[in-house]
Amino acid sequence: MTATLRHDWTVEETVALFDLPFADLLHRAHEVHRAHHDVNAVQVSTLLSIKTGGCPEDCAYCPQAARYATGVQAEKLMALPAVVHKARQAREAGATRFCMGAAWRSLKDRDVEKVAGIVGAVKALGMETCATLGMLTGDQARRLKAAGLDYYNHNLDTAPDFYGDIISTRDYQDRLDTLGHVRDAGLKTCCGGIVGMGESRTQRAGLLRTLATLPEHPQSVPINRLVQVEGTPLAGTALLDPFEFVRTIAVARILMPLSMVRLSAGRAEMNDELQALCFFAGANSIFYGEKLLTTGNPDVEADRALFARLGIHPLEVVLTDDHHGGTTVHADIVEPCDVDAAA
Ligand code: SF4
Repeated sequence: MTATLRHDWTVEETVALFDLPFADLLHRAHEVHRAHHDVNAVQVSTLLSIKTGGCPEDCAYCPQAARYATGVQAEKLMALPAVVHKARQAREAGATRFCMGAAWRSLKDRDVEKVAGIVGAVKALGMETCATLGMLTGDQARRLKAAGLDYYNHNLDTAPDFYGDIISTRDYQDRLDTLGHVRDAGLKTCCGGIVGMGESRTQRAGLLRTLATLPEHPQSVPINRLVQVEGTPLAGTALLDPFEFVRTIAVARILMPLSMVRLSAGRAEMNDELQALCFFAGANSIFYGEKLLTTGNPDVEADRALFARLGIHPLEVVLTDDHHGGTTVHADIVEPCDVDAAA
């Protein structure tokens, strides 16, 4: 079935989807999901933080912001051999894509060649590459593309009219500008947001509507549920109703039929039943984090057991290079803060 992708959704239409009776919304979302995806396949994502903590931004949810006392230790950019070592481990664990996240406001020109070198070295292992490094200029996006970068993650976080309540050190247009540079450079985009930060339903609709009216729907749409971290301004925020989270997944699926809709940060606090509802509503990607590289990890084992109970299998990706036997755990990306949030 060929999707007719719409880029003209209104907030009112999007709110109307949220307002449907739960069963009607899930039925509609599942029909869209089934029409465009293998509903029993879920992409499995991993991420390496190549530069943790010490970020100058004030994102109210983020434990990596230097101004909040969250216990996250600031670290320098990892050296190339250490990143390549991790990437090799990921490849041996079956990953075909390797994502690197850095807690930066923006990529500084002095770091461009270091990061380009890392991207090129990971690409040379025969893997797809992704990165999330903060804001990019057009020149930087083109340089990373030339170095071998395939995907770039840059989340919109929330609705335009709630953004100022969450972040004051940059504005919405900065995010949109970076996404434009990423698209113009020919990189694929991963872009989503966080719910449960105290926004209204209309603002949740506003986030999804903004994503769905970008010139291209992002190839990946991470939907994060706020992880409340002690020391951040959002610690103590009223918890989002789990059914409202499922509704958010369902509306994302309806608005962006072909995108991979990802459960990322906050999944550790979701029980199996809630995750199963999310998969039914259209989520088809999950985030494991770096722990995926550790065999026998209890979280990974719990996910494998859940997949088995639900008859779900990891989305298989066939690469044409010699490094893989064809299958794979698929890696993808989230915002730097999600490293901690999801770990
Ligand atoms: S979300 Fe990103 S930009 Fe914001 S404080 Fe955290 S690391 Fe910095």
